[in-house]
Amino acid sequence: MENVIIIGSGCAGYTAAIYTARANLKPLLLSGTQPGGQLTTTTEIENFPGYPDGIMGPDLMMKMQAQAEKFGTRIAWLGVESIVHRADGSFLLKAGAESFESQTVIVATGAAPRHLGLPGEQKLIGHGLTSCATCDGAFYRNVPVAVIGGGDSACEEADFLTRFASKVYLIHRRDQLRASKIMADRVLANPKIEPIWNSTVCEYLTDDSGEMRAMKLKNLLTGVEQECAVACVFVAIGHVPNSSFLGDLVDMDANGYLLQHPGRTATKTPGLFAAGDVADPYYRQAITAAGQGCAAALEAERFLSGH
Ligand code: NAP
Repeated sequence: MENVIIIGSGCAGYTAAIYTARANLKPLLLSGTQPGGQLTTTTEIENFPGYPDGIMGPDLMMKMQAQAEKFGTRIAWLGVESIVHRADGSFLLKAGAESFESQTVIVATGAAPRHLGLPGEQKLIGHGLTSCATCDGAFYRNVPVAVIGGGDSACEEADFLTRFASKVYLIHRRDQLRASKIMADRVLANPKIEPIWNSTVCEYLTDDSGEMRAMKLKNLLTGVEQECAVACVFVAIGHVPNSSFLGDLVDMDANGYLLQHPGRTATKTPGLFAAGDVADPYYRQAITAAGQGCAAALEAERFLSGH
């Protein structure tokens, strides 16, 4: 029987591992199907404190892994498929042919940015297709870029990108933004942002080296297609939290984000904690995920010492 199993190997998971390992709880971390989490799909990270010259996303995650292992975290490169809360209060986790028992579980499975599902999309990520203006916006100075979506995230990204890009196209499938009025007003008043209404991207077009060069847009009212040259497309059509495997052990909001006790990482099931993007539709930053991982570790430790 483990003291604590951490599910997920992003910033939240590794930080929870570092803290529980240093508390002598000998954590077992089950990495999930994307070892290292979302940061492994980004390039340079310039806003993680402690790295004034920036650090590449995969390098940061390897450092976190090394730090977690240094204090005794054991890692299994497995994705958890199901989890049962047993009558004695412990948890049974299934990962492929393997099963694990633990007194506490920290869920740090993150969220995946929603994409349009167009052909060639996966290959373009990091080559002119991204979901993080904060991470990648500064690489696109004085060139046109596009943001897809009409919510607060899309508006925030579009507004942020005007610091760098020569022009920001905002592609929305309707003629009204979903974003809050203050965000929508700010975006619509910004002369560097050009909304393209009632439109969707039907194809990404690349140059000879496989980098984004343009989008093919379709007007959903007229059916007319046009090409729009951009160096990068920022997709902001929401995220999908990786929470479905938890079933009714947790409460979720309408979008699948885990609900916790107010101001805490504890979920409705005693001994089950959540940290990072799987429970955070709002901040979604590496540093906030790390902070939540720390908080979950401290709560798990206190839960165990109370038993
Ligand atoms: P969201 O509010 O769900 O908006 C997603 C946007 O993407 C919508 O405009 C939607 O269009 C569009 N969309 C969804 N699927 C699409 C598809 N397949 N093709 C084209 N467009 C598609 O998501 P979000 O903007 O990430 O925001 C999530 C939550 O975080 C919200 O509650 C938001 O208020 C909050 N948030 C707050 C702030 C802030 O206050 N500073 C910042 C960011 C996020 P439709 O409008 O037609 O559905």
